[in-house]
Amino acid sequence: MKEKDNEFTVHLLNGKTGRIKITWVVIFMFFITYGFSQNQFNVLVFTKTAGWHHESIHEGVTAMRGLAERHSFDLQWHEDASRFNDEFLAQFDVVVFLNTTEDILNDDQQLAFENFIRSGKGFVGIHSASDTEYDWPWYNQLVGKMFHIHPLEQTAMVDVVNADFPGMEAFPRRFMWTDEWYEFKPEEYSEDLVILLTLDESTYDPNLQWGEKTGKGTGDHPVAWYQEFDNGRSFYTALGHIPAVYSDPWFLHHIYGGIYWAATGKGIQGKVGQDQ
Ligand SMILES: [Zn+2]
Repeated sequence: MKEKDNEFTVHLLNGKTGRIKITWVVIFMFFITYGFSQNQFNVLVFTKTAGWHHESIHEGVTAMRGLAERHSFDLQWHEDASRFNDEFLAQFDVVVFLNTTEDILNDDQQLAFENFIRSGKGFVGIHSASDTEYDWPWYNQLVGKMFHIHPLEQTAMVDVVNADFPGMEAFPRRFMWTDEWYEFKPEEYSEDLVILLTLDESTYDPNLQWGEKTGKGTGDHPVAWYQEFDNGRSFYTALGHIPAVYSDPWFLHHIYGGIYWAATGKGIQGKVGQDQ
């Protein structure tokens, strides 16, 4: 049979040959060139919970999608931990734990996530990311501090103690904020944390009792920080309990600053690139 002018022969996987119209080849090449992502990096938002399920996850995911659109990055959202393997995670630059809680990854999934960070990638933890995986020591170090207790939502004053990090330029030096204020365990899981925000404990009431657990403030009370850890980058903020927070421009800028730095290693004033 004579080949038509607008078809050519291709070798199929089953050993046979077939014909494909040039028109389809042209369309396929167009998608390879222009149809796939031209965005600057790829972010996975993970929201699995095994304990408390924050109502604000819904607003959080919506906010993340808005940030992806505004700042030209690709975003996938999943709650399914079975996707955590080396091949799946390798496509991302940053994984965001958005209000995750308690034991959400098995041993194999944990190892895949450790490999991801060790390959030079980034982690962003929001609010109850520090109420997650207490029994996984590497994760405790990655986050930097782990949740202990919180009082009722209250208004308090927050101080910017380091404004050199991306996103911090949106905050005034001292600002009023209403949220669920986490008090962290006294353990120091990492010595490399650079604190960005601290809480003025004189401006709210940190005292409470949950059975054996007591809250009474910690004095120097960190709220957000970052660190370089295990060849990767980690950013954490304790803000983010209340759904309406996810439509606050300051907060969104704060979160995007963390994502941008975790993805690229860039943006810290006085530093150039991720090797500095
Ligand atoms: Zn909360």
